[in-house]
Amino acid sequence: MNEMSKTLSNLAAIDAAHHLHPFSDMGKLNEAGTRIIERAEGVYIFDSNGKKYLDAFAGLWCVNIGYGRKEMAEAVSRQMNELPYYNSFFGTTTPPTTLLAQKIASHTGGHMNHVFFTNSGSEATDTWFRMARVYWKALGHPQKTKIIARRNGYHGSTVAGASLGGMKWMHEQGNLPIEGIAHIGQPYWYSEGGDLSPAEFGLKMASELEAKLDELGEDNVAAFVAEPIQGAGGVIVPPDTYWPEIARICKARNILLVSDEVICGFGRLGSWFGFQHFGYQPDLAPVAKGLSSGYLPIGGVLVSDRVAEVMIKEVGDFNHGFTYSGHPTCAAAALENIRILEDEGLVERVRDDIGPYFTKAWQSLADHEIVGEAVNVGLMGGLQLAVDKTTRQRFAKPDDVGIVVRNHCLENGLVMRATGDRMLASPALTISHSEVDRIIETLRKGLDHLRDTVKE
Ligand code: PMP
Repeated sequence: MNEMSKTLSNLAAIDAAHHLHPFSDMGKLNEAGTRIIERAEGVYIFDSNGKKYLDAFAGLWCVNIGYGRKEMAEAVSRQMNELPYYNSFFGTTTPPTTLLAQKIASHTGGHMNHVFFTNSGSEATDTWFRMARVYWKALGHPQKTKIIARRNGYHGSTVAGASLGGMKWMHEQGNLPIEGIAHIGQPYWYSEGGDLSPAEFGLKMASELEAKLDELGEDNVAAFVAEPIQGAGGVIVPPDTYWPEIARICKARNILLVSDEVICGFGRLGSWFGFQHFGYQPDLAPVAKGLSSGYLPIGGVLVSDRVAEVMIKEVGDFNHGFTYSGHPTCAAAALENIRILEDEGLVERVRDDIGPYFTKAWQSLADHEIVGEAVNVGLMGGLQLAVDKTTRQRFAKPDDVGIVVRNHCLENGLVMRATGDRMLASPALTISHSEVDRIIETLRKGLDHLRDTVKE
């Protein structure tokens, strides 16, 4: 055994000794041992034991073009050789940074022509959070500072991100949320819709925004933020009535509408952005993940002409930014990623081919005894585990059931995610029909396994 392979065989122990993982119980993880992922190709990842998994989650909702794209490595290598880094402070830019801003703007449908770059979705959240307040102050409304977000929404894990997110278990760590943030309900019909039809419930949940504006006074509110489809919250697809009403309220009450496109952006729903799928026009839209398909970290905020005009003409210095805002090598990766999405027609593929195929396959799971609903848009799917389909009764301990299915899938070579009692899928946009079939087959076995376990 050479030194390198000795080190690799010892990696789990080194990991336990030195590495604190995100969103993990480190005591339990160290006991169980970390899985080490060594390489990947297409929609497959391979661990250090040589086991192959179909990654139905595209890393963390992000590897939209699939793994192992040599063009990406080449584009990054070219840029690194040319100019690995320079900043966008002090009146400079680099070619890929500027060209990327133009390229992103070209896909927004015309009303968002500027981009502010960050390194992640969480930083994008912090960026629009400050920008929204700066915007209103510049217009002579310094008191318009409050932000309305939703329970069970997810916007990142920086202080602003975790505060805006509606996850109680995140608020409990670090005395969050910070001041100036209010939460309203989520359009989760299956769990919270009661006797209302989905359409009625969508309107009811949107009306919570109106009620919150009445309570806070719209003159004190800067913005409302939501994901087009809640991702980490469980792939909650809102009823059709929800988004048009939310967009109407934001306009009528003169608050900014922020569409968190970190997951839905760059093709996942069969449109470039989630707001295009649902037919509304946001004022600000944080992006990350699919922007570079996760090959290198980069995020940003798409800024509408309405906000950009004020930022450019009224604000003066915007005292905000990151050393790596618009990092040229990350921008080169994002440009190449978008070129691949365009040249291979991957967004259209999700809309016209693999999206409809996935829809049929995914929704076929709704006939399983313990599935309450199987919903998706494009390649973003959520599956509700339930005890009784007709009454929509959930399992007594929702947090314990998804993990049983997830672990069964993992043993059988399929990476899925479980959020409580919902199973989530979000595969690469390049996934083949037969690979989709394989997800459904393996997941069905996982569901059988949970059903049998529960019976026992
Ligand atoms: N917004 C949404 C909707 C997300 O799903 C995420 C990450 N899952 C974020 C923001 C935060 O992104 P990041 O992890 O890159 O900071």
